[in-house]
Amino acid sequence: MRILLVEDDELLGDALKSGLSQQGYTVDWLKDGHVAELALLTETFDAVVLDLGLPKRSGLEVLKSTRQKGINTPIIILTAREGSEDKVFGLDAGADDYVSKPFDLKELYARIRALQRRAAGRAEPLIHYGEITLDPASHSVFREGKRINISPREFTLLYKLLESSGRVLSREQLSQALYGWDTEIDSNAVEVHVHNLRKKLGEDLIQTIRGVGYMIDRIV
Ligand code: CA
Repeated sequence: MRILLVEDDELLGDALKSGLSQQGYTVDWLKDGHVAELALLTETFDAVVLDLGLPKRSGLEVLKSTRQKGINTPIIILTAREGSEDKVFGLDAGADDYVSKPFDLKELYARIRALQRRAAGRAEPLIHYGEITLDPASHSVFREGKRINISPREFTLLYKLLESSGRVLSREQLSQALYGWDTEIDSNAVEVHVHNLRKKLGEDLIQTIRGVGYMIDRIV
């Protein structure tokens, strides 16, 4: 899962980037509202963590223009303090949720998971798929109740494919979900992770759609 983090405070941004990365997210960090707006127009993210007080374009302006352009990526805003009106303006401008500074990182992680559930149309925290169960909170995967040993990248790839079940995801989309703007990627990385997941979870789970990408069928 790829997260766009927009925060101009170096210390907080650094803590958020490393914390979210440890949670298994791919994090792209930008520090002003103008570049964030451009990134949201041209790239695909699974969620956005958006500070409101930003240089060049405020978080509120970024929110408004993003929603006006029909981009419905889940957005959680960081507001300056408890009780401020920022959260009201932010929610009304199209934010899905907020946390007020200072906040507990665990609360932010839980809110991001909740947003992802809603975006995928789920209420149940665990993702069940046939004999496979994925738990986003503990980053664990079970097959017939038995815990499977998978790497953080494999987890991210499986999570992304399950949340998008019934849709084909291109190699490019999957690579972005796994690595963001990290340029040091082996071009076969996605194939290697898919190969490993098939070995661990069954050959039929992930389908290759030739010339397009990969998908997990929707369970009916
Ligand atoms: Ca700020």
